[in-house]
Amino acid sequence: MTKYIIIASSLLLIIVLSYFRNKRAKSKIISVINENCTGCQRCMKKCRYKALEMTDNGNSKCVVLRYPEKCTACRDCIQVCKFNALELVNRK
Ligand code: SF4
Ligand code: SF4
Repeated sequence: MTKYIIIASSLLLIIVLSYFRNKRAKSKIISVINENCTGCQRCMKKCRYKALEMTDNGNSKCVVLRYPEKCTACRDCIQVCKFNALELVNRK
């Protein structure tokens, strides 16, 4: 009996987490603070959805959100950026 309770609780937790993740992905998106970005590419390597790319404005390289439709607002990129160059903003 205990085994079924644990399985049911785990499934419920997964469903609830998935719901909130999808809700966040629809309302939030990553924004790059260009003046803080050093072009280190840590965020690009961390993003499992390949939503980020580098751009070269001539003087320096900076990351851009090339594929906004792929961004799930998971915050993985924010957590690895040491320069406070990324933030979550409202999609609209
Ligand atoms: S981790 Fe931060 S500083 Fe490095 S490229 Fe990404 S946004 Fe720029
Ligand atoms: S929030 Fe997640 S999906 Fe969006 S760019 Fe950052 S790592 Fe990629």
